[in-house]
Amino acid sequence: MHSLDMTNNSDQAFQLIESIFEYSYFSIDSGIQKEAIGYLGGLIKSIRELRNEFINENNEIRANECLDVIIYAYVCKRKLECILSLKKSNMHKAYDYLIDAQRSAEKGIEAGFQEDRYREKLNDLVKMENLLFPRQLWCSVGMINNEITCSICGLSVFDCLHISGQPYMGKLCYMKYNDVELEHIAVIPFGVPENKKCRTKYFVEGGYKIDCITKSVLGKTKDKDGTVKMLAMVTSELEY
Ligand SMILES: [Zn+2]
Repeated sequence: MHSLDMTNNSDQAFQLIESIFEYSYFSIDSGIQKEAIGYLGGLIKSIRELRNEFINENNEIRANECLDVIIYAYVCKRKLECILSLKKSNMHKAYDYLIDAQRSAEKGIEAGFQEDRYREKLNDLVKMENLLFPRQLWCSVGMINNEITCSICGLSVFDCLHISGQPYMGKLCYMKYNDVELEHIAVIPFGVPENKKCRTKYFVEGGYKIDCITKSVLGKTKDKDGTVKMLAMVTSELEY
């Protein structure tokens, strides 16, 4: 893996990340995959520093280009981390990494970056999910939000003109929920939830806790059949 030149544009960076995606097959040696993950971590760090330079120069086009590269590198890194976790039989972690990768690809599309690039990866990641994991019992959390502010300007979302999901000077705009009260929790029997990480960890059947991903018996319980334990009730936005 070679060094990166972003002097004029980000073409080389995308080519480089594309070549690292070639290490994200299950059969590739774990040592090579670990090395690739480390390399991507370093790459993300250095592009963040470069982004800061463009922000200081008030160069929004180049700062947004950096954001695009960071998100794409993140998709690749999380996919590799998913594969490594699968090899270690760490299935819940693998699932969470896969969902992070999917969400990042979706963010790239939503931000208006080159759609084909992200769409292709997203399709692969959805196929991976369907092939490797049973359908999960997803949940949704209803909250009463007393204060929602914009991540870009810090104003109330009702007083600002920034659009959630769009890039501004190298950062994605998202809504910050500062003061929330839990209103309800619901399971989602059909359709796809907003956040697939928000799911049940185990369910109770015949007095036993059964893991939702591995279907292994986790232990005995006095809870009634049908009881579920939820995971990741509230998850924060991914920061790039
Ligand atoms: Zn704003």
